Amino acid sequence: MTAAELRHDHLSIIRALSGAEQSRADLGRTLGWARNTVSSRLDDLLAGGWIVESGDQLSGRGRPSALFRLNEDNILVFVASFGKDQVTATIATIGGAVLARSVIDGYSLGAAGSDGPADAARLRDELVAEAGVSAELIRIAVVGVTGPVEDNKSMPMYADLTVDGASFERALGIPVVVENDANLMALGLLPTLDAQSRSLVFVKVATGIGAGLIIDGRLHRGLRGLAGELGHIPVAHGDGIPCNCGNYGCVGEVASAPAILNQVRNDGLDVASLDELQPLVAAGNQIAIATLRQAGRDIGEAMIGLVTAIAPDVLVMGGRVVGLGDHLMTGLRETLYSRALPATTSRLRIESIRDAEDAAVRGALVMGFDRLFPHEPSATA
Ligand SMILES: [Zn+2]
Repeated sequence: MTAAELRHDHLSIIRALSGAEQSRADLGRTLGWARNTVSSRLDDLLAGGWIVESGDQLSGRGRPSALFRLNEDNILVFVASFGKDQVTATIATIGGAVLARSVIDGYSLGAAGSDGPADAARLRDELVAEAGVSAELIRIAVVGVTGPVEDNKSMPMYADLTVDGASFERALGIPVVVENDANLMALGLLPTLDAQSRSLVFVKVATGIGAGLIIDGRLHRGLRGLAGELGHIPVAHGDGIPCNCGNYGCVGEVASAPAILNQVRNDGLDVASLDELQPLVAAGNQIAIATLRQAGRDIGEAMIGLVTAIAPDVLVMGGRVVGLGDHLMTGLRETLYSRALPATTSRLRIESIRDAEDAAVRGALVMGFDRLFPHEPSATA
């Protein structure tokens, strides 16, 4: 029984079992079904390998009743997250166990000699061998890209390249979801919110600056998937610098990794990459620190309107520039606390994470689960 053959009833059971094992009686109550219906659908799913019996539940009287849970080891997801100059590939179980992962630095989609779909298929095959799993167990792939995504295609707004889900589906032979990487990261951070918190903004500062917005517990993609293009908000420090979007003074032109490297080089530091900048930051180099703090202030300025408009519970910063140390965060807090609405910022939690790719994989699993097991009956049902 393939994912496409699962009917509405099967999907309802799978969704009910995500995160919690249940007995037949539990499922009957949860779904409002007769016991016979529950048993028949459970038998289908057991035969198809989608669920397993996980033991017995002892009740007060009578026979112990069997418990069922998702067969997570049988439902694997392949995640390929393409950054501007790096690709991270992961095979994980739908429950979140990472089975194999590889990071290739210096890889750039669209560069001469690169073929995204073919390269993804090769990475998938390598990881399948490394993890020692059967390739048929990989049910879905999630492809993370920088920039907006519309209709499962990255938008060729400021690049010639389009990442098209259909071409990845042909190369990989499984359903593929293409999604903006900051959106995946925001989605992956959603479970870290406490029960009272419903809204989160995740900002990735790397080669570009982008954000994922969770509003009232749901990913907000906006018109044509364009929500969160934070790098294209103009700031005073941008002062007429042209941006590839066609406007001037965008924060991405003053606070992204290339802009920061340009700035410190103009100020006399001999560094070619963030890896070379890192030890100078750690050693307390004043040029490096001042540049990162100013980048934080600039990003903070770009976020004043966003934070005021959304009033998120949590703002999480991530990406390779944030990983350089706390100076960017200091500048960001300085601007937001002094210039955004105090009633909002007094309760706003501002945090940073080291490994945003981890969050991207968790978000990809959430997205993969929803695509494999949708609420609505699939078109093939
Ligand atoms: Zn721009």
